[in-house]
Amino acid sequence: MSPKSNPRPKTVEPTEDGQRLRIVWQDGHVSEYHPRALRLLCPCAGCVEEMTGRPLLNPAAVPEDVMPEAIHYVGRYALRFRWSDGHETGIYPWDLLRRSCPCEACG
Ligand SMILES: [Zn+2]
Ligand SMILES: [Zn+2]
Repeated sequence: MSPKSNPRPKTVEPTEDGQRLRIVWQDGHVSEYHPRALRLLCPCAGCVEEMTGRPLLNPAAVPEDVMPEAIHYVGRYALRFRWSDGHETGIYPWDLLRRSCPCEACG
């Protein structure tokens, strides 16, 4: 299986300036996410319609400066964030995070 279809993180931590979340993957790739972009990516049933994948979340309702207040590992397959806007139902599987890597090589 290629790392892209089965990504695993080595470390998950904020960048030095605290402005982004950095994931270093086991294949050596580094992803740095803007917190608000991750919040908008939330795949929970309240943010995305389960059957259709239609977005339910209104981006205008998400504060520009939304930040993760807590990050939890969910088993071995995902991260769960508690956001400063009070939202915490989203579970972000590694492959979703890796697919959403904003770096030039992935974009
Ligand atoms: Zn959500
Ligand atoms: Zn990338």
